[in-house]
Amino acid sequence: MTTDPATLAQDFDQVRDVTVIGAGPVGMCTSFWAGMREADSRIIDSLPELGGQLTTLYPEKWIFDVPGHPKVLARDLVEMLRVQALEQFGVPVHLSTTAHTISWEDDLVVLHTDRGELRSRTVIVAGGHGAFEPKKLPGYDMTPWEGRGAHYIVGEKSVFADKRVMIVGGGDSACDWVINLLDTAREISLVHRRDGFRAHEVTVGQVLQAADRGDVALHVPYQIKEVYGDGSIQRVRLFHSDDAAQEVDVEVDVILLQLGFKTALGPLKDWGFEISRGALVVDPVMKTSLPRVWACGDITTFDGKLKLIATGFAESAIAVAQAVHEIRPEVKIQPKYSTNTGVPGAVAGQP
Ligand SMILES: Cc1cc2nc3c(=O)[nH]c(=O)nc-3n(C[C@H](O)[C@H](O)[C@H](O)COP(=O)(O)OP(=O)(O)OC[C@H]3O[C@@H](n4cnc5c(N)ncnc54)[C@H](O)[C@@H]3O)c2cc1C
Repeated sequence: MTTDPATLAQDFDQVRDVTVIGAGPVGMCTSFWAGMREADSRIIDSLPELGGQLTTLYPEKWIFDVPGHPKVLARDLVEMLRVQALEQFGVPVHLSTTAHTISWEDDLVVLHTDRGELRSRTVIVAGGHGAFEPKKLPGYDMTPWEGRGAHYIVGEKSVFADKRVMIVGGGDSACDWVINLLDTAREISLVHRRDGFRAHEVTVGQVLQAADRGDVALHVPYQIKEVYGDGSIQRVRLFHSDDAAQEVDVEVDVILLQLGFKTALGPLKDWGFEISRGALVVDPVMKTSLPRVWACGDITTFDGKLKLIATGFAESAIAVAQAVHEIRPEVKIQPKYSTNTGVPGAVAGQP
């Protein structure tokens, strides 16, 4: 996998066989199938991390229905996909990059992203529920602290190791992270602007027990008034939601904002796709209504559609087979068995 800025800058001058929109499990798997078919691909994602919903919504949850894995942590599945799909085939990955519009130049598809134009022979959209965007804190602009201690996503728990962590939010993800970071952070405080949490009863019970034990400092109903620090976050001033004169200062190193994510088809809905109930309509071979564009994973809809990781993997194999056959008609749709071929350019198969 290539995230080196210099390599990515050069990638804007390259024409790839496939540009994959979305670095969720299905997008990564799409690049895997492309590599297996000796097609070169790149991936773009609006998020700063790989993994789509698995990273943003449930990195620490067990998944039990990915065949071959009796159980697997969502973040471990992302890591295995990264190694198998991106590392193995040296796939350039443009993170924090959103595809805004699409156009065509002869046989090429051009994606217009917020970082420049990317050209490829085909595009495969594995965009899930659309571009993810974390909800921002109402009432205080946290933008200047992003990259300096303010986080919206927990990719690696180690980022919070031995830190004084302030978690902001009152829903499931805020409460889940309070519990999940107890073994990692040095101190945890939880700030919620309303009385009462909107999380699973059991998790709220665990948070309250942790607070009783003195492991978590609860600031409810409080809101952020000001963040102080020299380069990085050092202290946060909170005010009481019902009485702004009541203020409290808390020493912290990082702030984890867990206010939910907005997902919307966003830019994709204006590209001219046939759309039904917020998803891209595809035919039985995953072709969308746009030339040279296929789709797979949660973003597709068809008769009998299942929104599952396992079925998304299968859809991506079909989409890639079609895309490669379109570019090189001599390549058969049905792949050869990997037991015989091995991994092109990496691992030998068996005779
Ligand atoms: C709490 C929870 C638990 C789940 N548990 C299971 C389970 O046990 N088993 C199971 O099979 N499934 C489960 N799922 C569903 C599973 O997560 C989805 O089926 C899977 O994530 C779909 O993968 P995807 O790659 O299609 O989309 P996503 O994971 O949604 O990834 C899509 C990516 O595309 C990016 N993107 C979209 N539009 C653009 C654009 N224009 N430009 C750039 N990037 C863009 C997004 O930022 C996102 O990162 C669960 C879902 C949730 C929410």
